[in-house]
Amino acid sequence: MEFISKRVQSLAVSQTLAMSQKSSELRASGVDVINLSVGEPDFNTPAHIKDAAKRAVDDNFSFYSPVPGYMSLRQAIADKLSRENGLSFTPAEIVVSNGAKQALCNVILSTVNPGDEVIIPTPAWVSYVEMVKLAEGKSVLVPAGIDSDFKITPAQLEAAITPRTRMLLICSPSNPTGSVYTRDELQALVDVLAKHPDILILADEIYEHINYTGSFTSLGSFEAIADRTIIINGVSKAYAMTGWRIGYCAAPAAIAKAVSKLQGQYTSGASSIAQKAAEAAYTGPQDCVAEMCAAFRRRRDLVVGLASQIPGFRVNEPKGAFYLFPEVSGVLGKRFGDKVIATSGDLAMYLLEQAHVATVDGAAFCAPGYIRFSYATSDENLREAMSRIRTAIDQLH
Ligand code: PMP
Ligand code: GLU
Repeated sequence: MEFISKRVQSLAVSQTLAMSQKSSELRASGVDVINLSVGEPDFNTPAHIKDAAKRAVDDNFSFYSPVPGYMSLRQAIADKLSRENGLSFTPAEIVVSNGAKQALCNVILSTVNPGDEVIIPTPAWVSYVEMVKLAEGKSVLVPAGIDSDFKITPAQLEAAITPRTRMLLICSPSNPTGSVYTRDELQALVDVLAKHPDILILADEIYEHINYTGSFTSLGSFEAIADRTIIINGVSKAYAMTGWRIGYCAAPAAIAKAVSKLQGQYTSGASSIAQKAAEAAYTGPQDCVAEMCAAFRRRRDLVVGLASQIPGFRVNEPKGAFYLFPEVSGVLGKRFGDKVIATSGDLAMYLLEQAHVATVDGAAFCAPGYIRFSYATSDENLREAMSRIRTAIDQLH
């Protein structure tokens, strides 16, 4: 331990990845675990994208790429942002990274000074608070529970702002709740932000295309804050490309330049082959995106129906992403034998051990009292998992 820096000692392990690892280990030991912990599309990457990667290998895209990414990919991303979101970014304002995860961390490390406050509506994805910690910033959590459909109000945002506020970090469609802010709801938050010109807005839009509302509004499209809004997106979710590791930030030029400087010192450009695949994703046919979204929507309906019948679970209807985030306080305090299920963490462990279903404790998303499960898996797995959970909950007294 003495060799490990305080910086890394203070970091928490990613609970989504840890739970997934635990479930893989159980599976390897012969237990039939259904893994609903990690969130990633279960579809294969579309064929035309894989073909582009194969061509890139044959065409010798084997050298270092420019640190912020190939110009052709950045142009394809700029075109996407213009076509789909009505945003105007030049390639110089876009930096491609190893997944949206690195893009987020790059931006936070490039803009947050020690002691700066970052407002994070919760429940929030596991890595946000840890990334802010890496930058020695201070996370200011603004909670929104199931009764407000997991969305913060303008009054809550206003109340969280102090002279030290550097950034608002917001995710819609949300991981872990699936909530999607409407244009009007975003406008109301923007009205608050318009009064505070020193606050950066970091908008994690990675689930943009897994959205069942029929419309998506990018935070970058509001004139009042456009010059200080940074968009995070990537190919992981929309194109079923989690393992390819391509994400990006689109940011004001000075921030993009800083991000590129940082990335140039610690990872260089992202994989050349994966970049060419991502370029094909953005420039090729888009029907695969809608098809996958339709499949997730069908599963959403299935899983909401089944989960709402589980005694002690309160479920909302997610409008995007592929997670369900039931409130489980109705189960807490019950016993299995002489063991008390006191917390949502105990419940997640109990479900793993007794029902052989891997979920994630809501506490990992700064929301104890909830659990998350991903429904990016087959109908058969979902039916079986919900039935196992129900049986396990029925065994509590
Ligand atoms: N933001 C959110 C909200 C996510 O769920 C994920 C996926 N783990 C990421 C960012 C990172 O995506 P990527 O796989 O592209 O790094
Ligand atoms: N988006 C996924 C999740 O939250 C990926 C795992 C991770 O990167 O944390 O489960």
